[in-house]
Amino acid sequence: MSYFKKIFKAIHTLFQGMSVTGNYFFPNALTRKHVITCQYPEEPPVIFERFKGEVVMWHNENNEHRCTGCQACEIACPNGSIEIIWKWEINPETGRKKKAIDQHIYHLSMCTMCSLCIQACPTNAIMWSTNFHHATYDRGLLTKVLNKPGSKLMEGVEE
Ligand code: SF4
Ligand code: SF4
Repeated sequence: MSYFKKIFKAIHTLFQGMSVTGNYFFPNALTRKHVITCQYPEEPPVIFERFKGEVVMWHNENNEHRCTGCQACEIACPNGSIEIIWKWEINPETGRKKKAIDQHIYHLSMCTMCSLCIQACPTNAIMWSTNFHHATYDRGLLTKVLNKPGSKLMEGVEE
């Protein structure tokens, strides 16, 4: 192959490679169709439904939850991220004592997002939230009480 043919072939293959990159880069740079990175916090990120941000307790519009205080989640958690503080409550109808949740404490800073607590819960009281705004200078803020103030157990939910 002559000297000039080699130069021409080298330039040709260089442009072949660049055209592959260019065909991908320019349309996507304009439409951002396949772009999954973003300029956070200026741009809101795309959060998928399955994203595990933190464990939360579901409450209905009457401030009722489904947590019976059974401690199954606390026992299932491999690293002690959950602490259940429970109390006795008197059933006004039967006069009998019943175990009830006082505080469902969740240490987000220790949580490895393994889902074992959620799988262990017999009443589907806890679930994943996609909230990821956890940056803080105070670690204490990462310890949360999942049952809302004044909330109570939803009627019909049994251990
Ligand atoms: S997700 Fe895993 S580590 Fe986190 S609180 Fe539940 S069981 Fe514990
Ligand atoms: S969240 Fe579920 S497993 Fe944990 S104490 Fe409440 S009812 Fe029991």
